[in-house]
Amino acid sequence: MNDRSIGYFSMEVALTPDIPTYAGGLGVLAGDTLRSAADMRLPLVGVSMLSRKGYFHQRIDADGRQVETPEIWSVEDHLKEASAQTSVVIEGRTVHVRAWQYDITGYSGHVIPVYLLDTDLPANAECDRHLTDWLYGGDLHFRLCQEVVLGIGGVRLLRALGFDQIQRFHMNEGHASLLTLELLDTATASCGRSKITHEDIDAVRKQCVFTTHTPVPAGHDQFPMQLVRQVLGRKDVYDMKDVFCCEGVLNLTYLALNLSHYVNGVAKRHGLVSQHMFGHYVIDAITNGVHAATWTGPAIQTLFDHYIPGWRDDNYSLRSAVSIPPEELWAAHQHQKQMLLQHVLDATGVAMREEILTIGFARRMTAYKRPTLLFHDLDRLQGLAEQANGLQLILAGKAHPHDDRGQELIQEIFGYQKRLDGNIKVVFLENYDLRLGQLITSGVDVWLNTPEPPLEASGTSGMKAALNGVPSLSVPDGWWLEGCVEGLTGWVVGEHALDPTQRADGARDADSLYHKLEHDVIPAYCHRRERFIDIMRHAIALNGAFFNTQRMLSQYVLKAYFT
Ligand SMILES: *Cc1c(COP(=O)(O)O)cnc(C)c1O
Repeated sequence: MNDRSIGYFSMEVALTPDIPTYAGGLGVLAGDTLRSAADMRLPLVGVSMLSRKGYFHQRIDADGRQVETPEIWSVEDHLKEASAQTSVVIEGRTVHVRAWQYDITGYSGHVIPVYLLDTDLPANAECDRHLTDWLYGGDLHFRLCQEVVLGIGGVRLLRALGFDQIQRFHMNEGHASLLTLELLDTATASCGRSKITHEDIDAVRKQCVFTTHTPVPAGHDQFPMQLVRQVLGRKDVYDMKDVFCCEGVLNLTYLALNLSHYVNGVAKRHGLVSQHMFGHYVIDAITNGVHAATWTGPAIQTLFDHYIPGWRDDNYSLRSAVSIPPEELWAAHQHQKQMLLQHVLDATGVAMREEILTIGFARRMTAYKRPTLLFHDLDRLQGLAEQANGLQLILAGKAHPHDDRGQELIQEIFGYQKRLDGNIKVVFLENYDLRLGQLITSGVDVWLNTPEPPLEASGTSGMKAALNGVPSLSVPDGWWLEGCVEGLTGWVVGEHALDPTQRADGARDADSLYHKLEHDVIPAYCHRRERFIDIMRHAIALNGAFFNTQRMLSQYVLKAYFT
């Protein structure tokens, strides 16, 4: 086990539905990556945070207000304590760090160990014991302390556990980039020096790989130097201004950029946007994927097992989904839809019907994702529902506790739900998580995605839908720019966004959305079912076969890990 050569670091990771150590897309990607690494027998080891109280559990009150409570879970029931501990220094205090191990076993039996760091030890000061309680909780100071634990503590823990052959450290987003400091210290010490030199920097760059996920500068972690000085208590960081700080702040994205030999964005367009944002660096792109077996619903899995045996081992073979008998694909889809509608009934008391066109929208509730775009013109939406003999909408998503606008959007959705009452059934399902994500992406008829271009780095939920034969109706951004074949894998909304000089325009995008529903989606679904099923088959064959973490990881292997 200790022969691992790649350490994969992520602030969050979605391991199983019962372990709430993730907030959203970043953690789901980390989990899917490690699951595929296990399938592919790759020599990875994962490092993340324990998050004893999770991200948060979401309830929505009768007025649509989000109520946040801790996610209660038993660490001991799901994880085993690792055999070694380590420590870091924060503000001059020694903070002891232990880890909890979760083993991901691939279909081939290969195991990827994942270590979740935990500072809740009696030997630690009270304030330090809470550093691994919450994911993305607290203020800047708390966040920086957490990132010391993840980056520096993570590298030290791997060493303490005997992982002494790691040659690549992969930072899934900048949160873990303080690990470069630890690697620099090691490089410096191994040469018998005390001061970091540019040779050490070159040595560390060879070891590090950085994946950036955010296409807006404000989305990147940055800390005032004053705070950095207080928390890290070291001076050399300021001596090397070109590496560590820019404009008086430590920006963890720049730290990772400066100290990685390979940097990538998570879709082709996002690579270009990032390249533009960070002009001095070379930024490549590897488009995200999802773990095929995790996100394919049970009925479609059975169908694949019958018609495409070996698809778990070789996701590319899903291309032969084009020859699955249409009536069998439809039956499997309807089965998964019934499961979803049963959940809707149990959770909300709303009875939806399986023969009615059902659109899904679930993701983080935040302004740029525009979850209310579909409700832009309620009269027009009602007209579409008449044309389709009914329309059902299933929504879900958490808003970050500090994102007031995101929380307001949930309330607005509740308002629309009331106004549409009777004519169009709208449900908002509470506490979007892995389980609900699987149920919704595999059970609706069409997957809607309307972020404001170019703010969607990749997006992955449409890929989950595609594996289930659910076509996307999406703006041209993120992965959809690569995945959309108009009328064959789904449809583009708001084509004008293809022109990067055009600003996002809600009214125009809504108009385009209604137009696509009226002229393409509804006619195919309601009147040309065989055509609709053909689109479903192509969603699997063209997109399920490609936008998976198996293909994604093989690109990391070629471009980043073993180069
Ligand atoms: C897939 C998933 C996400 C990410 O969805 P995007 O389309 O990338 O926004 C977030 N949360 C959960 C629970 C998911 O399953």
